[in-house]
Amino acid sequence: MRTRRGAGAGAEADSHEVVLRVENLCVDFRVKGREVRILSDISFSLRRGETLGIIGESGCGKSMTALALLRMVPSPPGRITAGRVVLNGEDLVQVSERRIRGIRGGEMSMIFQEPMTSLNPVYTIGNQIAETIRRHKQVDKTAAWKEAVDLLDMVHIPAPERRVSEYPHQLSGGMRQRVMIAMALACEPTVLLADEPTTALDVTVQAQIFDLLNEIQDTRGTCIILITHDFGAVSEMADRVLVMYAGHKVEEGTLGEISDDPRHPYTRGLLRSMPEIVDDPADVRVRLPEIPGSVPDLLRGLEGCPFAPRCPSAMSQCRELPGYSRLGEHRSVKCWLESEGPGGHTTS
Ligand code: SF4
Repeated sequence: MRTRRGAGAGAEADSHEVVLRVENLCVDFRVKGREVRILSDISFSLRRGETLGIIGESGCGKSMTALALLRMVPSPPGRITAGRVVLNGEDLVQVSERRIRGIRGGEMSMIFQEPMTSLNPVYTIGNQIAETIRRHKQVDKTAAWKEAVDLLDMVHIPAPERRVSEYPHQLSGGMRQRVMIAMALACEPTVLLADEPTTALDVTVQAQIFDLLNEIQDTRGTCIILITHDFGAVSEMADRVLVMYAGHKVEEGTLGEISDDPRHPYTRGLLRSMPEIVDDPADVRVRLPEIPGSVPDLLRGLEGCPFAPRCPSAMSQCRELPGYSRLGEHRSVKCWLESEGPGGHTTS
């Protein structure tokens, strides 16, 4: 597996200023007359030029976290019920509707896993990029069109002067994802949210998209939040990793800490279920171990540690929800196995 930065890279990024701080973010859904917690006390920070990988199975709350950061939780039935999302000193949970609309696609933008559902099939890609530019900047149509060509060139689309007049269906899947990245970068965001950006692409094109995102980060200093179920993708890009399960952050650390010394049983299960390249064919495992069971249905309500029904180390204490145990400056785990007593050491 390729790794861009390796184990110690998070420490390098630590010296940079914090641009995004998420504090105790909670999202509730109202279902059949009762409030159900979908995101529980999510906290993390992001420094300039850093990539945070948010990983977990489908339904763990990764995409909901991204929507909550942009205040796009589907409402009703959902709403942010507690916490702060502080971007460059401004709490996005509290700003006006008008201001948050300016932030979306401006200071914070998002690329989705399936570009065909995000691009409008009846407009040229040039029109769509130019429209995004004009929504956020005071420029005329000619200048916006020229900027669209420059952006296509920046994301390495060949013959951008010609491609800019084409429609989405005329481009390959990889090219369409490059267009989405160009659009997301149009207003030079501080934070780029990438929600499973390569899931719909073949392996070769996936690697090209990761290279492009890494290049953008190196040249522009953009912070990236990579949301994925694939630890291989995290290894390609992330400085730090946040593991989510059932709407909780269950472990956080640098890429090296998480991949070399996972502490939460869920993180261990995720890593064990990942294919690896081996030198000796005799080491090939016929079948990868799976985490037994499935992600719980949060709408049914949970008590205690949400991973308990699937956890090989579950004990009676796990009927209560553990707190966070801090294992290092940016390393924490939410599991009784790492706690010194009931409630653990709660950290942010
Ligand atoms: Fe397993 Fe208990 Fe830790 Fe939950 S708190 S992950 S059930 S050991």
